[in-house]
Amino acid sequence: GAIRAAKLRSNSTTTQGEVPKDDEAKSTNSGAAWNPTTWHSKPIVQDVVYDNEQAVERALEKLEALPPLVSPYEINRLQDLLRDAALGKAFVLQGGDCAELFDYCSQDRIESKMKILLQMSLVLIWGAKLPLVRIARIAGQFAKPRSKLTEEVNGKTIPSFRGDNINGFDPSERNPDPSRLVSAYFHSAATLNYIRSCLSSGFADLHRPFDWSLSHVQSNTVKERYASLVKSITEGLSFMKTVGAESSSLNSIDLFTSHEGLLLEYEQSLTRRLRDPRDAKNKWYNTSAHFLWIGDRTRQLDGAHVEYFKGIMNPIGMKVGPSMTAKELVDALDILDPDFIVGKVTLISRYGAGKVEQLLPAHIEAVRKTKHKVVWMCDPCHGNTKTSEASGLKTRDFEDIMSEVASSLQVHKEAGSQLHGIHLELTGDAVTECIGGSEMLTHEDLEIRYDTVCDPRLSESQSLDVAFQIADWFQK
Ligand code: PEP
Ligand code: MN
Repeated sequence: GAIRAAKLRSNSTTTQGEVPKDDEAKSTNSGAAWNPTTWHSKPIVQDVVYDNEQAVERALEKLEALPPLVSPYEINRLQDLLRDAALGKAFVLQGGDCAELFDYCSQDRIESKMKILLQMSLVLIWGAKLPLVRIARIAGQFAKPRSKLTEEVNGKTIPSFRGDNINGFDPSERNPDPSRLVSAYFHSAATLNYIRSCLSSGFADLHRPFDWSLSHVQSNTVKERYASLVKSITEGLSFMKTVGAESSSLNSIDLFTSHEGLLLEYEQSLTRRLRDPRDAKNKWYNTSAHFLWIGDRTRQLDGAHVEYFKGIMNPIGMKVGPSMTAKELVDALDILDPDFIVGKVTLISRYGAGKVEQLLPAHIEAVRKTKHKVVWMCDPCHGNTKTSEASGLKTRDFEDIMSEVASSLQVHKEAGSQLHGIHLELTGDAVTECIGGSEMLTHEDLEIRYDTVCDPRLSESQSLDVAFQIADWFQK
C-alpha cells in the first residue's frame, strides 16, 4: 500500500529525540542497519490499502507521540520467564479472543477473561507442578489476517472484516479507516489499565480463588474437581501461613499482553528506543505489548513481517503451520534469534489433529541440531477449524483440539523434548462456538450463543476441560 512509503520519523522514535550512537545500528544478517521502518523495502502480504494517505500520516504521527503501553522492564521480565519455560522450568498459558473488539473493553469482559486464565492456571500449576506464565491475547489483539479479502453479504460483495483497528464488523463500515489505528491504542490502554488495577488490588490473590467463581460451568464433575483443587490449595496456603512460610508472591501474579504483529504501521509507531535496565543501553522495544507473534500467513523469510520482528527486543512467537518445512523453520530462527537467546522465540505449532505425528518430529529434530533454544507451544485451535454443515458456522470440535494437544505432548515426550505451553482461543463466557467438551455441545447448539466475529472460541467450561485434561496428562 501507498502508506508503506511513510517517511522515517527517527526523531520521534527515540528516547530523547535523537538516535544514540552507542548501539544505533543493530546490524542484520545482511549487514544492513535495522530500524522500525526497514520492513518497508520488503514484500508484504495482508497489507492494508487506505484511500486517505494524509489521515494515515496524522494517525501514525499521533501514535508516535503517545507514551509506551508497556515498559522494557516488563518485557525483559517476560523474556526471563520464557527462558525458564524453554528450559522446562515453567509452563506457558497463552489465550484469549481470536479478534478482540473495541466493545470488549468493558469491566465484565476483561474480568471474565482474566478469571478464566487464572482458573486454568491453578489447574495447570497443580497438574504440571510448574510455575505458570500467563500471556493473554488482549489489549491489542485487533488486526486479523484473512484468506479471502471480500465476502458476500446480502447478495453484495464487500471487503472482509479485518479487525477493529482496520475496519468495522458492521457491513457499512468495511472501508479501512485510519482513525481506528488511534482508537486501537486507546482501547488497548484502557484495557491494560484495568488489568493492572485489578492485579494490584488483589484480583489474582491466590488466597481468594473461590472468588473466581465458575459462573458459567454446568458440569458438576468439573465444578467438583475445581472445588476440591481450590480446597487443597487453600489448605496448603493456610498451613504455610501457620508455619510462617508464606510468600508475598502469592498475593499477586503477572499477566502479560500479546497480539499478532500484523499491522506493521501500528507496530512501527509504538517501537521505541528505550533504556534496557540490565545494561543501561538504548534498544528497540515494541511497547504495544509484551509479546507479539508472526502469523502463519505472514512468516515469509524475505517478507516485511520477519524483517520487522528481527529487530525488536521483545520475546516473539511464530506460528508453525503444516506447510512449514524444517529448513524454513531453521532459517527463520537464524534470522529472528541471531544471538541464540534462550526462550527468545516461541514456536507455536498448529498443524491440525492427525498431522502432529507426521510433522512435529522433524521440526523438533531440526531445531535440536541448532543452537536455538525455543519455547515449544501448541495451538490446537487453528489447524482444526471446520464449517458446520447445518448452520454454515465456523466451529472446532473439542475432540480435535484435545487430540492435537495430546499428540503434541506425546510426540515431544517421545523425542526427549518437552511441550512448554499451550495457546488457545477462548473466552470466559458461556458461548456456543466449539462443539463437544463436558457440556457436550452439538452442531445444533451452535446458534444458541455464537458471538465471535472471527474464529470460534472455547467457552469457560471447555477451557477448563482443556486445562484438566492437560493436568491429567502430567499426572499420568
Ligand atoms: C490467530 O492466531 O488468530 C491466527 C490467525 O492464527 P494463524 O496465523 O496460526 O492462522
Ligand atoms: Mn484465530
